[in-house]
Amino acid sequence: MANFIGIEGGGTKFVCAFGSGPEDLQERVVLPTQSPAETIKALAEYIHQVESKVKISGIGASVFGPLDLDPESPTYGYITSTPKNEWVNFNFVGALKQEFNYPIGFDTDVNAAVMSEYRWGAAQNLSDVLYLTVGTGIGGGLIINHQLVHGAMHPEMGHILIPQNKNDNFSGVCGYHGNCLEGLASGPSLKARWGVKSALDLPEDHIAWEIEANYLALALANYTLTISPKRIIIGGGVMRQNHLLPKIQRQLLKHLGGYIQNPTVVKNLETYIINPGLQENAGVLGAIALAELAYQHQKKRD
Ligand SMILES: [Zn+2]
Repeated sequence: MANFIGIEGGGTKFVCAFGSGPEDLQERVVLPTQSPAETIKALAEYIHQVESKVKISGIGASVFGPLDLDPESPTYGYITSTPKNEWVNFNFVGALKQEFNYPIGFDTDVNAAVMSEYRWGAAQNLSDVLYLTVGTGIGGGLIINHQLVHGAMHPEMGHILIPQNKNDNFSGVCGYHGNCLEGLASGPSLKARWGVKSALDLPEDHIAWEIEANYLALALANYTLTISPKRIIIGGGVMRQNHLLPKIQRQLLKHLGGYIQNPTVVKNLETYIINPGLQENAGVLGAIALAELAYQHQKKRD
């Protein structure tokens, strides 16, 4: 079985591991996110250490963005306009390529997440899948016709505009749009609106959750109508409570207003809108899935 290196790069830490999938994940390490030069040095040391022991077939990295993912672009593989100043316009893929000659998969954290669910989790081999994460931010990763979607940039599904709930006059926390979806329904927006330390401090019967479910269901209705996925996986810190998913499913039906009759969507709502299948190590597994994909592309070209 081929071994791949997975790198999950976040704002505070980089998680690395190697292996071939969830049953075979080895030497997971956590490195602090430092300057680009220091971080790349630590990553390179890790990779050299692994390749001294096993044969590596590819590297996958999912990194905080925004990212340039257009293979035709001269700045492909760069982190672009991140709030982390040292990392603005850093050529992440280029820095790895200087050191290593493996195929390199590089994508957003949400595309890595949808890829790992497609490969090993709750959407195995489904042609059209959306993965939405609701946490510190809101973002969506998308597979259409078995391919990851990028387009001109990459979809920014957390920033869609939705109507404000009539019981909610909160102005939202998005620095760009105020009351876009992320501004109204991310973890920080729940904390700011209700004055709690963590969204999980809000009791189950608090109106916050009906409003939250309303916003997320509006978003899912829009994605259902525009993208027509066969399954939507919804994860992230805010979703880690069992009562929220059924509230979202109920409200989604209401928002679709009886117009959609397709059984995949409305008859089987419990399999249409679901929790992620992979819990532990989902992020680094996503990166390994990207590595495997890059390896397969390379093999096709050779
Ligand atoms: Zn926004």
